[in-house]
Amino acid sequence: MDRILNYIDGAFVPPLAGQYLDNHEPRTGAVYGQLPDSTAADVDRAVAAAKAAFPAWQALKRQERAQYLYKIADAIEKKLDLFAKAESRDQGKPIHLARSMDIPRAVENFRFFAGAILHQQEKAFQTSPEVLNYTRREPMGVAGLISPWNLPLYLLTWKIAPALAAGNTAVAKPSELTPATAFLLAEVLDEVGLPKGVCNLVFGLGEKAGDALVAHPDVPLISFTGGTETAAVIGRRAAPLYKKISFELGGKNPALIFADCDLDAALATTVRSSFLNQGEICLCTSRLFVEESLLPKFTELFVERVRQLKVGDPESQDSFMGPLVSAEHQDKVAGFVQRARTQGHRVLCGGERVTPQKSLEKGYYFAPTVISTDDASPEIMQQEVFGPVVTITPFRDYADAVCKANSTRYGLAATIWTRNLERAHHAAADIKAGQIWVNTWMLRDLRVPFGGMKDSGIGREGGDYSLEFYTEEKNICLQLGRNQL
Ligand code: NAD
Repeated sequence: MDRILNYIDGAFVPPLAGQYLDNHEPRTGAVYGQLPDSTAADVDRAVAAAKAAFPAWQALKRQERAQYLYKIADAIEKKLDLFAKAESRDQGKPIHLARSMDIPRAVENFRFFAGAILHQQEKAFQTSPEVLNYTRREPMGVAGLISPWNLPLYLLTWKIAPALAAGNTAVAKPSELTPATAFLLAEVLDEVGLPKGVCNLVFGLGEKAGDALVAHPDVPLISFTGGTETAAVIGRRAAPLYKKISFELGGKNPALIFADCDLDAALATTVRSSFLNQGEICLCTSRLFVEESLLPKFTELFVERVRQLKVGDPESQDSFMGPLVSAEHQDKVAGFVQRARTQGHRVLCGGERVTPQKSLEKGYYFAPTVISTDDASPEIMQQEVFGPVVTITPFRDYADAVCKANSTRYGLAATIWTRNLERAHHAAADIKAGQIWVNTWMLRDLRVPFGGMKDSGIGREGGDYSLEFYTEEKNICLQLGRNQL
């Protein structure tokens, strides 16, 4: 059985209390490894190492820090197959998806922020001929980085890369459900000779290791991606310590399908946007609102396509969906569907656990599920399921569509399908979500602001937005006397 270790101060070390957690393989349900059940003492050690490494790291030239990031990117890319296999085994996503999406994006994160830091600009303001203001952006110290299980390496590196590029050192706490690629990343950091203590990885539970990181007095900023309820706990812990916070949280993302849309494109993309990665992407569509006149045809064609999606062995090239991440999550998803049924909503397809083949019968597979509902208020339309479940609901007109789209506490992303450009622009303005896609989904430019409105988050990440978050900007005001001329 593989046992991974913490990576602290440039060394692979066991947790101080000697305790480990089992890591289950979603594909078979079997325990296939162990990870440290780290405590506050391990976090203390990691923070001390990061704090000691900070002065030298921040003093490096930007080009030197960028070079390290490029080296990390190259090293991950060289081991793409190894990373993809580990990610698929840990999280359950089909290996081809890890190879084509998650791992290349992690590589891109390092390359992107290596370039971004070289092109970052500071500002100058000339108040009068004799008064000049200019700004400096300074790294803050030890960045506390907490990431979820759904895109384990992609989201972890989306934090580590800008934090290090900007001159901070870091202590990262990856999800306890998916530690494998983070551990491979630690091996890469070691291999490329990143100075010790610059990036430390502490594995373990959120309430223990994560909480110790959030509460640590020497960690002035916390970047957290995860559930909205967890963020409330973290916020309560961090606020009295005046920490800078970034929250990237849950969603309940609507797709508005107007009758004039390109139906084939809307169908193909919406099937993907609803079920890619088993629906376990924060940006996945979970509520479809379809204009009344199109509803019967759209529903028939959509359900037909969903029925064809192959749920199978994540190691197989032709599986579109693998298992869900854990037995608990499978129970949670099944519970949502069961309650929706009990409340009288119609399950049009799926709605149950499945076993793709005998050898995988203990894995956490769940069929892609479509539920028909008439209004936007039931639990299944309000709470984040974070699995392969979408609802289909009719809307009467533009106002009804926007009202239904906006009827949750979340505001992460939305998709609009129409050929009417005016309507698209108005809907994009009227829907409260941080990311709106028109006639597409999941197209990302890493320079644009990324983050949620309402309860989907606080702050923005991406390009300069991340570099701003990982630094503090100060203004220097200078009076230019003429006495010495
Ligand atoms: P989670 O909130 O349970 O856990 C996220 C991370 O926080 C894990 O590393 C966990 O160990 C840690 N954690 C848990 N309790 C903690 C505490 N008290 N103090 C400190 N750390 C703690 O979320 P999850 O189940 O891992 O991920 C799924 C959620 O993440 C979904 O809600 C999804 O929408 C959201 N998500 C959001 C984005 C985004 O960019 N907005 C991206 C991916 C996932």
